[in-house]
Formats: sequence, C-alpha cells, structure tokens
Amino acid sequence: MSFPLLVIALVGFFLIPETNLYFRELGALFLHTAIFVGIMLFFNTFKLRKVFLLIFQFLLSFLVAFKLFFYYTFEAKPSASGVFVIFETNAAEASEFFSSYFDFTIGAIISVSFLVFFILILQLVFKQKQFQFLRFKNISLIFKVVTILLIVASAYFLRRSFRDQSLFIISHSIQEYNIAKNYYKEHLAKQENQSIKINSKNEKPQVGIVIIGESTSRWHMQLYNYNRETNPILSKMKDELFIFNDVIAPEVMTIKSLEKSLTLSDHNNPKAENNFSIVQLANAAGFETFWISNQQPVGFTESTPTIIATAAKHKQFLATDSYFYSIYDEALIPEIRNAIKTESKRKLIFVHLIGTHRLYPKRYTKEFDYFEGVNERTKYKTAYSKAKVNEYDNAVRYNDFVVSEIIKLTKAENENSFVVYFSDHGDDVFDTQDFVGHHGHKGSKPMFDVPFLAWFSDDYLNNNKRIDTLNNYENRKYNAEDFIYSFSDIINLDFEGFDATRSIFSSSFKERKRLIKERLDYDTWEE
Ligand SMILES: [Zn+2]
Repeated sequence: MSFPLLVIALVGFFLIPETNLYFRELGALFLHTAIFVGIMLFFNTFKLRKVFLLIFQFLLSFLVAFKLFFYYTFEAKPSASGVFVIFETNAAEASEFFSSYFDFTIGAIISVSFLVFFILILQLVFKQKQFQFLRFKNISLIFKVVTILLIVASAYFLRRSFRDQSLFIISHSIQEYNIAKNYYKEHLAKQENQSIKINSKNEKPQVGIVIIGESTSRWHMQLYNYNRETNPILSKMKDELFIFNDVIAPEVMTIKSLEKSLTLSDHNNPKAENNFSIVQLANAAGFETFWISNQQPVGFTESTPTIIATAAKHKQFLATDSYFYSIYDEALIPEIRNAIKTESKRKLIFVHLIGTHRLYPKRYTKEFDYFEGVNERTKYKTAYSKAKVNEYDNAVRYNDFVVSEIIKLTKAENENSFVVYFSDHGDDVFDTQDFVGHHGHKGSKPMFDVPFLAWFSDDYLNNNKRIDTLNNYENRKYNAEDFIYSFSDIINLDFEGFDATRSIFSSSFKERKRLIKERLDYDTWEE
C-alpha cells in the first residue's frame, strides 16, 4: 500500500513546483496510507482485509494519479478553478485537449500510480495463491489499541495541517464549483435581471453586433504588425475601423475570461453582488437579443458562456449536433443575416466564434491553406513548430475573412449600426515559449494580448459625434474585463453603477491598473 507513496516521492519530485508543497504532499499521502493500513489491519477476517486492501489501494492510486496529473497539467495543486476547466471543457474540446496534451507523460503517470492496484486485480482474476500476506494470525489487543491511536492521530494531523492536500480537497473543489455554478444560473440565465437599474436609454432603431472571438492573439495579426499577411481584408478596411492596440484579456481560459468580460465581475470583484451580463443589459435596453454561436453549448456540465447566452431571446448553437465539430465559422454568416433581417427595430446580435481554437487545421477551409515555410519570428524553430505556426496563421487569416464578412454584411444594411470584435484570449504559438495553445499556468503575453476593433455606420457616427471625434484612443491600456462599460456606452445606456471612465469609447476614459493572474499588474509584469 505504500507504493503510491513511493510514486509521489519519485515523480512528484520533478513535477511539484515548490519544495514546501512537495513535502506537504508526501506528508499528507503518508497519513492517508497510515490510516488506510491501520483500518485494514484492524479487521481479523481475511475477506474483509482483502476488500479493504483493494478499495484503499484504489483510493491511494487515484489520489496520486489525480495530483500528479494536476501538477503536470496546471503546475499547481488541485483547486476549484482547475475542476472548472476540466468540467466545463466540452466533450469535443476535451478530445482535442487530450489529443494535444494527453501525451506519454500523463499515460505514464496513470499507469505507474495504478501499477500495484493492477497487479492485485490480476491476481484476483487469475486466482493465484493470492494475498497470502494478509493471512496473518489474529492480532493482540495491544496492537489494536496502538492501531486505533495511530488512525486517530493521523486523521487529526491530516485535518489540522494537511487539509489542502487531503482527499477532501477533491470533493471540496467540486462542491465549490457547484456553488459557483448555481450562483451563475440564479443571476445570469434569466432574460430579466432585477439588479439592473436603468437611468436612461436610447430608443432609436439600431443594430449592434458583438463578435466574441476565440484564441486569436494580436501577436499573429497583420493589423498589429505581424510579419505575415494574416489580415489581408481587414487591413484594406483599416480606415473604416477603430483599432485598439493595447487591449488585454483578463484571463487566458475561455470560461474565466468571458465570465469577466461579459458580466459585471472583475479581478477586484470576482463574485460581483447582484451580477448581470451584457445580454441582460441589452434586454433591459429594449433590444431583441440574439446569441449565435459556433461553440458547443454544453460541457460535462453547462458551461458559463452557455448560461450567459441563455438570457438572449433567440439562441442558436450551430455545433450542437456535431461532436467532432468542424463547422467553419462562415456557417454563422447566413444566421447573422437572418437575425439582421428580422422585424424588430432594435437588435443586438452576439456572435460567438470558434475562431482560431485548436486544432487549428479544423478552423479553416482548404482555400485558406496559405502559409508555408518557417516564419523567422518563431522563437522555437522545429518541424513541429513550423507546422503549428503555419496552421495557426491560416486560421487567423480565415478569421480575418469571417470578421470582415460580418462587418460588410452589417454595412450593406445601411442602418444605424455598429460591430465590435475582440477575442476571449490568445494562443502562444512558440512566440515566447516552447508551447502551443493557452493554459493558465503558461499564461504569457501572446495569450493576454487580444485584438479589439470596432466599426460604426455613418448613421451611427452622425448620431454619436463623440465617437467620431475620439482622439488618441488607439493606445488606451484596457482590460477587457471592463467591456460591459464599453458596451453600455455604445448602446447609449446609462445604468446605476455605469462608469464612463471604464469605457474604451468614452472621452472620459481613464487608465486603470490592469490585473491578471493572482493580482499581477500586467503593465509591470516581466515574463
Ligand atoms: Zn477561449
């Protein structure tokens, strides 16, 4: 039974980032092992010992595998937010996650952790002369008393000093996750939200489109001085666009990022009292609201963006039926056109792209297989990175086509309208590290630096002179967690709590400290 302890001692030595944490994990596992061995020894019958041995061996192996998996994947101890990421990753994304990250190491971690358990099971199956070591004679009373004391003392220390490392932390993380989930459902899923107090609103006919991108980094966009033609169309439209050069995502994982940028919550106020979303704001402002998405609506549980989307009056998820979805984002365009053509005078259309999410080749059509060769800017040059960078750049180029098509479509309607586009976060594609994708603990500048641009119709600019006369806006330092203020600014909605200094479109905009990660200041952050 002490085999899992040996595994964590050896493997953990390489995977657990801090020495202190390493010894705490060892200590906690030692106490778990002591308790389980104690309970097993306590029983006199061979059968019971055998059953307990199997159960405890499984629990210890599972605990070790789970912990090592966490340390390997997230470089951090198990937590509610890690559970969030695992639970809310939908099946298709999970399969991509595993095909990208489920590598030899994770396979090895699981096999090694369960090695002794597997051997026990094999002995059981093949009915070998098994478990002889459990056939010792009845044990003395003194031994029993000592065993009980050992169990009690171990349990006490585990509870007192190693709570964060115990088996409970897993159930605790899941509990915490459920509480958060219910909170979101209660506040964000309904069309109306009583917490929204409107001071004034515009009643003019209007069409607004908010495009939420996926995994698209500014670092690979020609619009932001990338050295490849990844934005041939938007670059041509440049004069019609308001391009913001210094917007960051609050987080580098979809769920956590959108939770902040689409609702009132932010780093200073992660669980905003009386929280509401931009979809609910649009409802309150009298818009007919649409949520048109090329992302799967459900994970292993309902994901946060889906809950936010639920508040829209019309919802469409193109990727519902396709588990291994390679529905290209252009499939959204006819749906957006239909939404624009509906009767109502005031329409707000939220578009959720699959964007440039891994696996990249699934994100663009054949005609967009464009880039080849090695890009000199790639920091880690290997055959693998060359392929990934080319695939990612193709996907960015395809995304350029999709975003520009949506703008053209809106423009053709010739109404009082606007389009805003930003990405939930970016990917690091061998830009600063030997890594492809996005991940909390690998969070680097390319993952935080996102595109943010807006297009306004002539009518809109006439109605809102302040936008047209905006000066020096391009380099505003902005954290997209404040998007809800920019959003209500451009739909001319004033709600109780609205703060114009947090709108990137406002003349009274003020720079704020941009917090990321564990309250790190992005602007003083040296990687
Ligand atoms: Zn994302």
